[in-house]
Amino acid sequence: MKIIVASNNQGKLKEFKSILEPLGYTVVTAKEQGISMDSVEETGATFVENSIIKAAFVHEQTGLPTIADDSGLTISALPDILGVYSARFMGEDTPYVDKNNEILKRLKDESQRDAYFTSAIVMIDEQGIHAFEGRIDGSIAEAIMGEGGFGYDPIFVPNGMTVSFGMLDADVKNKISHRALALQKFIDFMEA
Ligand code: IMP
Repeated sequence: MKIIVASNNQGKLKEFKSILEPLGYTVVTAKEQGISMDSVEETGATFVENSIIKAAFVHEQTGLPTIADDSGLTISALPDILGVYSARFMGEDTPYVDKNNEILKRLKDESQRDAYFTSAIVMIDEQGIHAFEGRIDGSIAEAIMGEGGFGYDPIFVPNGMTVSFGMLDADVKNKISHRALALQKFIDFMEA
């Protein structure tokens, strides 16, 4: 069976391919189906809503099973700046080192540093909309910790650990992350 990934993100495509192809699915991008995602606006109030917008855009044009995902970081003390706007905070082209330093500056002297990453994976097929969410709780470090990972990884310390996502090996992060948890729920659904 063919599944379309409603994303231009090569990293996400690779991740979906490596999980779904061993299960017998052929994974193709929206672009390979001749569909540009450039005009899609992520206007949803939640990660699931944004994933639905992306998946529905492609599903309506192809009628084929389509998956999309949306993710981000939510910081309790800064409720308005990240969340569904995580990618857009300070502009999409601003380097993450600047975004991370700005967050640390805004949290200076703040003792409430709780934060969590969320990932929402949505699949739309002829049966309807299926949504799978993963979340990992942690806190924002006092300073940049490590250079690994991507995005907000160097300032996020998962609960129960003393190092940031930016200091963990990719295999360790990929076992415990919000995305891994959402993907596992999605795989369980696909294999049921
Ligand atoms: P998306 O591509 O619309 O899902 O954007 C996700 C946003 O959240 C981007 O700004 C990412 O940098 C950030 N983000 C999502 N997951 C992670 C993660 O695992 N580590 C660091 N940043 C992440």
